[in-house]
Amino acid sequence: MPDARYDLIIIGGGPAGHVAAERAGALGKKVLVVEKSHLGGVCLNQGCIPTKTLLYSAKLFSQARHSETYGVIVEGARYDLAKAMAWKAKVVETIRKGIAYQFRTHGVELVTGSARIASRAAGLVTVEVDGKPYAAPNLLIATGSAPVVLPIPGAERAMGSTEALEIQKLPKSIVVIGGGYIGMEFASYFTQVGTKVSVVEMLPEIVPLLDPAIAKVLRGSLPDVDFHLGAKVLAIEPDGADRAAHRVRFLQEGKEQSIQAEAVLMSVGRRPIVESIGLEGAGVDFDRKGIRVDERMRTNVPGIWAAGDVNGRSMLAHSASRMGEVAVADMFGSPQRMRYDAIPWVVYTNPEVSGAGLSEEQARAAGRSVKTASLDHRANGRFVAENEKGRGMCKIVVDAASGALLGAQMIGPFSSEIIAGAAAMIEAELRVKDIREIVFPHPTVSEALRDTVWALKE
Ligand code: FAD
Repeated sequence: MPDARYDLIIIGGGPAGHVAAERAGALGKKVLVVEKSHLGGVCLNQGCIPTKTLLYSAKLFSQARHSETYGVIVEGARYDLAKAMAWKAKVVETIRKGIAYQFRTHGVELVTGSARIASRAAGLVTVEVDGKPYAAPNLLIATGSAPVVLPIPGAERAMGSTEALEIQKLPKSIVVIGGGYIGMEFASYFTQVGTKVSVVEMLPEIVPLLDPAIAKVLRGSLPDVDFHLGAKVLAIEPDGADRAAHRVRFLQEGKEQSIQAEAVLMSVGRRPIVESIGLEGAGVDFDRKGIRVDERMRTNVPGIWAAGDVNGRSMLAHSASRMGEVAVADMFGSPQRMRYDAIPWVVYTNPEVSGAGLSEEQARAAGRSVKTASLDHRANGRFVAENEKGRGMCKIVVDAASGALLGAQMIGPFSSEIIAGAAAMIEAELRVKDIREIVFPHPTVSEALRDTVWALKE
């Protein structure tokens, strides 16, 4: 007989699963989370948090080496990878403990093991964890995603992002295959700690959805990185005297080229984990793009919801958590709707890039009539005080008829923190004239957003 003491079983303890568990626990529901690895999922253990921890250490190193202008002379600054990795491990452990504490606070039970949907009958879904059955009227699938590996000869020679976060020695040179946000964050990390970086990207520009002007500023801000855009990787081959190095061969503008490097990182996207969890047997509708869900995260099977990367709708940690909340609200009687219009995103390069809402290209492709404004950070007091060199800019996209803010993108320090304000404005459908009445603190880089709104020609 299955253990059926639960109101909700959640498969996966990442941002979708653990936040859903905490919200349901806070409602007084009896929740069981099944996690086969560590609490916190990819985000905490191999994604958001370890990358940001290492990127912070690389930024500090870079600042230490370039601080003379500001009257700070640091002699003999050096980067200690082992120490940076130890700090990263400590941060991850601290946050894992924080999630475990939240589980205890909300009475959430955790079982470690691999879960699979076994059956669904009489309003109960039964899940098997390494042979032991558990049952509940509600199941949330939050199994996340895994990296895509290009089907090219020698693909196994490349590291994935998870291995790149565990390196013991800094490579002298690295080729990053894929100029998406994860690839660019690693490129920014490695270039700041002194590795020679080349980025090979198949598309004509880095980071999809990035405004072309901002993408250009980002590339210009990474002068030591070699970019090969519109370049299709063909193979990764052994190279060098002892064949321990790698040669990445690619096709660019019809010509075959190659780069030799000590390491190769493949970062070409992620795919939802839909296999080996019993979706077929339970009749859950899915394809390789993920489990199909509606705006309340319901699958086609009553009693089963799917949130986070596994549904492929918005593969970001904060989207995953919000989807988890929407699923819980729906299953316990106060339905909410998942809205994707104003989800902020950040690329934690140095300088940071962020955005929310529609890019100009997306808005025009959707047939919207729009006005735009762009402003360089050079007129921003805080930016000038703290940046002798480097550039920053903000761009907004506004509905021409209503004046509502549809999108914002920015590059420069604190972009990751400022974008939440822009996202709230888009979500609240604020118009340019409303935003102009909001007072921003001075001097802050956030004023660049307000100034860009004022720069819009009516
Ligand atoms: P996951 O975090 O993948 O969690 C799923 C969990 O389910 C895992 O712990 C897994 O072990 C478990 N699981 C899977 N199958 C089973 C099973 N059968 N039984 C039991 N357990 C199972 N997003 C951001 O928003 N900001 C960032 O800065 C950012 N940086 C990133 C950097 C990198 C290098 C990577 C790889 C990703 C990054 N992401 C970032 C994306 C982010 O990590 C994901 O969007 C997020 O983790 C998705 O959360 P999730 O809960 O859907 O899935």
